[in-house]
Amino acid sequence: MEGIIVKGIAGFYYVKTENGILECKARGIFRKNNVTPMVGDRVTVIPAAEGNILDKIHERSSELVRPFVANVSQAYVVFAMRNPDINFDMLNKFLVSLEKNHIRPVLVFNKSDLAEDEEMTKLRDDFVGTGYEILFIEAKSGAGLDELFNQLKGNITVLCGPSGAGKSTLLNKLSGSDKMETGDISVRLNRGKHTTRHSELIEVNDALLVDTPGFSSMDFTMDAHELKDYFPEFYEFEGECRFNGCNHNHEPGCRVKEEVGKNISKARYDYYVRYYNELIEENKRKW
Ligand code: ZN
Repeated sequence: MEGIIVKGIAGFYYVKTENGILECKARGIFRKNNVTPMVGDRVTVIPAAEGNILDKIHERSSELVRPFVANVSQAYVVFAMRNPDINFDMLNKFLVSLEKNHIRPVLVFNKSDLAEDEEMTKLRDDFVGTGYEILFIEAKSGAGLDELFNQLKGNITVLCGPSGAGKSTLLNKLSGSDKMETGDISVRLNRGKHTTRHSELIEVNDALLVDTPGFSSMDFTMDAHELKDYFPEFYEFEGECRFNGCNHNHEPGCRVKEEVGKNISKARYDYYVRYYNELIEENKRKW
């Protein structure tokens, strides 16, 4: 029987299957091979009266460490329009890391009531060509949340963003935490508030949502030459650069650079160059 691990606790794994949640123990072979089942893993379970066996872990499409969750397919990258102001450096680093991890980012700007229309237009311009969905919401009042609900469907979604951006409020709204008290959509046992614990997946809207507010920073180690692969607005043009493997930096005949200020925003390109140089410096120090 196939399913998804939604919770792990003290050696037991709780797997959501078509027959409901099954409590399972992992095969000893996993430990022997140093494989740790993760929440989010797609697995095969062998049901048995004396205890269900977690038999097989299917290949993962992504692996996050903090939170420790596999197969996350989508991230709501939550920033507030004000209080705190948008930290674009952090935002762009999130986007790069998510691309690297094969997770689709959705940009969610909270506290949109505090922003002018021109600021929202400018934000859209800043991310021109990326294909990223940009949503403006007010987590507190619930304005704009319908679209976020709809987009959960079919995904394992995580929330990320700096503290103060409203991740927790949003998570509560999306997970319907008041409903959860009544057990309507809850798949968890003994939910402890404000305690350090492993992430769980909660079922919302034919989808799974990581129940912890997620990370506020991400690992940014990579080869500098890899970085361009994580700026989707470059894809359309990079085949037309004069040099194969062009890094869109100082090379002559660079098509990507030609598009800066047109189909690629200068703000994003400047971050690209900055991160590229940072990574070159960092990797020099290592060797
Ligand atoms: Zn180029």
